[in-house]
Order: sequence, then C-alpha cells, then structure tokens
Amino acid sequence: MVASKISDRVYLIDTQALGEKNTVAAYLVKGSKTALVDCGYASSAETVLQALTELNVSPADMDYVIPTHVHLDHAGAAGYLLDRMPRAKLIAQEKGVKHLVDPTRLVESATSVFGEALIKTYGTPKGIQADRITAVTEEMHLDIGGLSLTIVHAPGHAPHQVSVYVEEEKVLISADAVGIVYPLLGILIPTTPPPSLDPAELGRTAERLGQMDSKILLAPHFGARTDVKEVLAQTKSKTNDWVSLVRGMRQKGMSQDQMTRELKTMVSRESGLPEDRFPTYADISIRTNVMGITRYLEKNP
Ligand SMILES: [Zn+2]
Repeated sequence: MVASKISDRVYLIDTQALGEKNTVAAYLVKGSKTALVDCGYASSAETVLQALTELNVSPADMDYVIPTHVHLDHAGAAGYLLDRMPRAKLIAQEKGVKHLVDPTRLVESATSVFGEALIKTYGTPKGIQADRITAVTEEMHLDIGGLSLTIVHAPGHAPHQVSVYVEEEKVLISADAVGIVYPLLGILIPTTPPPSLDPAELGRTAERLGQMDSKILLAPHFGARTDVKEVLAQTKSKTNDWVSLVRGMRQKGMSQDQMTRELKTMVSRESGLPEDRFPTYADISIRTNVMGITRYLEKNP
C-alpha cells in the first residue's frame, strides 16, 4: 500500500522517492471532485498512479493537479500524470507556470545543484500545455464538491510556492513552507535550497500559515503533524539558526563540503540518529541547504 488515510476526505500518498519510503509525500483530496496536491519526482509517477488505484480513483476522473511548487520532488511527475488524466486542470503559482510549460531551464538549474547522476534518478519533467494551467497569484478558492480549498501563495522556500488549506477538514497541506520533519529523525531540519531562498519571506509565510485554524499539518517530507503552530515556529527559528551558522562558517573560510559535514554531525548529535542511517533525501537536503544559504548570503551580504 502506498496510500493511507489522513481524514475522511484526505489521503497521503507515499511517492517512495528514490526507492525510499516516508521521504516525499503527495496528498489526495476527495470531494465530489478530486484534487492531487503535489506529484513527486518524475520517476515516481507510476507509484502515484498505483496509489490512485488503491484509493479507487480513476486517473480519467481526476479534476485538479496542484503541484505546490516547481521543484522536481513536487512537480516532476506532473506532466506524466496529466497525460493519463485527460480532464484534469493544473493549478500553480504564476511564477512557476513558465517552468511547467517548458522545464528546460529548471532542469539545467537542478542539474547544477544535484548533479547529472541524481537528476537521472529523479527523472526529468515533461512540459505541460499552457492551456491546461490556471495560475494563482496570492490566493484562490476552489470548490471541489463539498470541500473548499484555499490555495495561498507561500513564498520563502521558493517564490513560486503555494500551500493548500482544506477548510472543512482543517487540514493544511503546507508544501515546503515547513522544514523536513521525518519521524525517523525526530527533529526538524530546515529546507533552504538554491536558487531563490528568502529566509525573511519564509518566516513571514510560517507566521501567516500559523494564523490559520489548522488542526493537522501535512508535510511533504513527511506526513501528518498535529503540533501545527510548533512546527511552523520551529521552521522559522531553525531556518534563522542555519543561516547564522552558515554565515559564521563562511566567515571562518570553511568550504561547502566542510559546512555540510559540520551540519550533518550537528543534526546527528541533536537527533541521536547515526549519519549513515539518514534517509537519502535528508542527506541530500543538508548539502543543498548549505548551497541555498550560501547563494542567499552571496546575494545579501
Ligand atoms: Zn520538497
């Protein structure tokens, strides 16, 4: 089983990214219409389709696909899924639309961050016809038949990110507006990748989302949390901590490799989990966090 129930009308899909369970989630919201929030990597498309089968949803009946942002672990599979979902419309933040239509630059940028070997494992996204995409600017309300979704701009991690609030269920599908909260690690790791990290925006987004009346927060990495305000507050404070740590390490002249090693050791100590047991996704994230903060500090010395 790759799908599991969160509430009567919300389901978690484990996309089994890079062959590992519990690292990258997508969510299915079922009113009388259906919406898939996030899609996983391109290489996870078949796993997502398998989950829909488990949930008795035919791809042909899907109404909406909402990748929360264009990063490959969230939108990579979107083009492949839409090919199987002839009725579905895609909804995305307006700044991401051009990358969904033509992913060439996105793939180039991701390759410079992750390297070619990893990009092969992730799979490359497929362009989506512009006329299937509806753009969100700040906020959009969507009625999916008995359920009201509020899709809100959630910048910081990336400028093209949205979070999705399911009003009747008081469920917030946060996207990477929250840090990585793997149960296995037990502590939160911020998620601060290049190229467009903005820690101040990220903090403001966390505060805004914290003001919503959410009972459950659904994190892409990974799963459900009921301590919603705490997770959002920690996201803000840990992001600021990591920015300060990287700033300090740069001032000491440390290389990106050295900074990554130091932060891994810190996370391992804090969580009690040996480094060789970190999920691959967390391991990669610590490195890309250093890259994202470095890039931010270069632009904002
Ligand atoms: Zn992500």
